[in-house]
Amino acid sequence: ADVSPSGAAAIEDIATRHLVQPWPTSGSIGAEARGLIQSGEGIYVTDHTGRRLIDGPAGMWCVNVGHRRPELAQVLYDQAMDLSYNSPWYTTNAPSAVLAERLAGHAPEGMNHVFYTTGGSSAVETALRFMQFYNNVRGRPEKKLIVSREGAYHGSTYLSASLNGRPRDHDWMDSASQLVLKLSSPNPFRRPSGVSVEAFCDGLVEEFRTLIATTGAERIGAFVAEPIQASGGVIVPPGDYLKRMRALCTEHDILYISDEVVTAFGRLGQVFASDDVFGIKPDMITFAKGVTSGYFPLGGVMIASRLFSDLRQSNHSDAMFAHGLTYSSHPIGCAVALKNLDILEDGLLEQARTISGHFQSRLKALEALPLVGEVRGLGLMACIECVADRVSNNPLTLDLEVGKRIDKHCQEMGLLVRPLINMCVMSPPLTISENQIDEMADILDRSIRLTQ
Ligand code: PLP
Repeated sequence: ADVSPSGAAAIEDIATRHLVQPWPTSGSIGAEARGLIQSGEGIYVTDHTGRRLIDGPAGMWCVNVGHRRPELAQVLYDQAMDLSYNSPWYTTNAPSAVLAERLAGHAPEGMNHVFYTTGGSSAVETALRFMQFYNNVRGRPEKKLIVSREGAYHGSTYLSASLNGRPRDHDWMDSASQLVLKLSSPNPFRRPSGVSVEAFCDGLVEEFRTLIATTGAERIGAFVAEPIQASGGVIVPPGDYLKRMRALCTEHDILYISDEVVTAFGRLGQVFASDDVFGIKPDMITFAKGVTSGYFPLGGVMIASRLFSDLRQSNHSDAMFAHGLTYSSHPIGCAVALKNLDILEDGLLEQARTISGHFQSRLKALEALPLVGEVRGLGLMACIECVADRVSNNPLTLDLEVGKRIDKHCQEMGLLVRPLINMCVMSPPLTISENQIDEMADILDRSIRLTQ
């Protein structure tokens, strides 16, 4: 395609007329173009006018090793020339097997199996369907309700989307709500006034305990949780909340599915965060995004091996898990993921752990601005939440498009952010330097000042 400035205008026009992009409003389809990004390098992307922008959200939480890595481009080419595709129904390929072993090496002990998908939604969908299969085969078909939480985002396929719990997610959409039970978001910033963080955490665990008691553990198949609710506004759970939720799942034989689509592959300084950051061993871990740093669509589910022994001990060794995707175990995706893992293991995970202190403290300083209610985060993910006033911390009386307005100012100064209603989410490539973090924080500071 012609990508000169006049070509860019033509492409935007074509996109407006023919392209339906994610999360459109009914009025915007066919009426609104999104800015055209032409190239990327390191932590930067360049738009069609030649303007260079820091990629603050790393694409969509995914470009963890940065843009334009020649070694990843080379692997894409080499693997396509060797073997671009094989049917995972009847055959296997080396990259998917070798990657499975490498991933098992990073996963919590006893989690030795992986099922590959095409992204995060299909990973969550796979984990849920596996839970249904597991309980059907084990002779307890009634144990299939799924516990999710307010503030969650787990995907855009029917079942995964049914778990979502952010404002507006279900306003105009159908869902399998009869299969889903919702708990509160573990958001300490939104705890009732006068309640300590410890008491808030106790209350969240108690809420789950009560839900199990009133519903019956024999009807609950899975608890699904992002270790940090990402698109819900980077909600870092209080204290030992995750460990206590895990303990309740263990006590009641409920499968714990940790959705690490965002938190894995270095975002929190480890390949998987469930055990290495939060000290929990889930029964399944879903991943996507950073596994290939966005160079190829790939996702997957890590599955604890004990689940397969349980299945083997059932009386139905011929029961079929009738689930598979044409692009499961894609050789190019898996080859890219292997090279991406090499880069992460070769010092980048460590660098992410080191730089995250500076990232968090520079962004935290934005709390001095009156529009900012809280800045929170962990590792290389953070959220700036704006409020109408600092006494009530009420987001609702505020202009709900405030995130978009901050984003507009930021873009004019050379920074992309991810606006989420009254919040801005930041999750830059892990390769970001201290100076670049300073530049990012300065732009945010100036943009927020201009917004109030
Ligand atoms: N799970 C989480 C935690 C996510 O943040 C996302 C996407 O942002 C998904 C699942 C869905 O992933 P995908 O968009 O690759 O289908």
